[in-house]
Amino acid sequence: MFCESCGASIPDGQSFCSNCGAAAPVQPEVQAAPQPAPQPVQPVQQYAQPAPQPVQPVQQYAPPVQQVQPVYVQPVVAVPAQPRKSSGMAIAGLIMGIFALVLCWFPGVNWILGLLGLIFSIIGIAKKNGGAKGAAIAGLILTILGVVLSVVVFGAILGTSLNQYVEQAESAASAIAETTY
Ligand SMILES: [Zn+2]
Repeated sequence: MFCESCGASIPDGQSFCSNCGAAAPVQPEVQAAPQPAPQPVQPVQQYAQPAPQPVQPVQQYAPPVQQVQPVYVQPVVAVPAQPRKSSGMAIAGLIMGIFALVLCWFPGVNWILGLLGLIFSIIGIAKKNGGAKGAAIAGLILTILGVVLSVVVFGAILGTSLNQYVEQAESAASAIAETTY
């Protein structure tokens, strides 16, 4: 740095001018560096979302409303499976067995199916030609299972309805007893 009064060079660290004796100009130790102006926050570029495509009306083919009553529809489906091959009986028995199991909630239908399944399965087992003996045996097992399950379900239904009947009778009796006293 240089002296303010005479202009002579003053070495660093010396507080006065060696030429004229004037005090050396005080040099600020840390030059405050101009702080960079805070960068303006760049707005996040927003990509304009593509406008939603107009929804094309889906063509709706109204399916013909079929009142599917399992009680009547299912046996009709099962019947044509029988005569084709020698294994037809066994497969029919298997199908009957499956239906007997599935339709164990409908006692009457289940018993008819169970009877048919039993007949078909036994015929299928008795016919020893063809590899459908396994199907026939499975049909027999399913049929028996279905009928047994149906009996259990039917028994449960009977039991609950009987209980309800008894409860109703009891409440009616108590109501009568209350009105008389
Ligand atoms: Zn000086």
